[in-house]
Amino acid sequence: MKPTFIHNLVNSPFEDPTLFVRIMHEKRALLFDIGNISKLQPGDLQKITDVFITHTHIDHFIGFDTLVRAILRRDTPLRVYGPPNITECIEGKLRGYTWNLIKEYPIKIDVCSISNNKKSVSSFLAENNFQRIDKESTPFDDIILKDPLFTIRAIQLDHQTPCLAFSIGEEFHININKASLEAKGLPVGPWLSDLKKAIRECSPADTYFVISHKRYSLEELRDVAQITKGQKISYVTDIAMHDNNIKKIIEFVRNSDTLYCEAYFLEEDRERALERFHLTAKVTGMIARKARVKRLVAMHFSPKYRRYRETPGDEAMKEFSSSSS
Ligand SMILES: [Zn+2]
Ligand SMILES: [Zn+2]
Repeated sequence: MKPTFIHNLVNSPFEDPTLFVRIMHEKRALLFDIGNISKLQPGDLQKITDVFITHTHIDHFIGFDTLVRAILRRDTPLRVYGPPNITECIEGKLRGYTWNLIKEYPIKIDVCSISNNKKSVSSFLAENNFQRIDKESTPFDDIILKDPLFTIRAIQLDHQTPCLAFSIGEEFHININKASLEAKGLPVGPWLSDLKKAIRECSPADTYFVISHKRYSLEELRDVAQITKGQKISYVTDIAMHDNNIKKIIEFVRNSDTLYCEAYFLEEDRERALERFHLTAKVTGMIARKARVKRLVAMHFSPKYRRYRETPGDEAMKEFSSSSS
């Protein structure tokens, strides 16, 4: 199965957590947290249309300036989603520079702040010197972005400050059945993307496609596409280790194909983890196991463990693959 999302951490697990998700067949990418992003190529930065920020501690937010600088001349707007104070934090960053020479630039930044039951959107336009314009507020259930290809969900957790966790999921995944393609004598081509789009949008059965100068209806082509369960990727970091948070996370990330989760401290430093509102690696492994995720990527380790023989990653994996319930 060809995945719809190609996802990788930008940095090593001892550095700032940032997840880069490329959407296949679209010149587009998503970013989860925006710590140090100097390892991303200019071409990667140009593809980023949406940034999802868990909270604005400096290790999750310092790369925002780098991204804005890279996309100043871009027509496609940038959308940023974050916790209740995200709009003030972005406004503060933009006010930190002088913008008298950018009136001609096309870039627009839409910021969406998420609280327990409300989403509020504000815009910052280069043509308006990045002055803040407040727009609508709408009720928030758990969906923050619905795209034809995927849905992004969020929940608010506690890190002594509100901290969001995110998941990206496809309703279903469409694979092309090569055998059926060959049996029908059909060539591979851009029409396959149109077919997938028609299926995703539930187009009528008589929708037609022209392939090698011949007309085919959607109904005739339906068995070329095989529908399977969609991918789910979750991203959770900087979470206070208490029952309420842990219960909410297990529910939220359940059955993820991949869970990216912090493992800041080792279990031997449990007291420190509680004081700093972080998880221990053992708890990270337990969450992943109880939520029955397929793959766990532990990240965001305290740099103090760099030279340890057993890293938080090892501890998390050991707990994840253990058989205790
Ligand atoms: Zn952090
Ligand atoms: Zn933090």
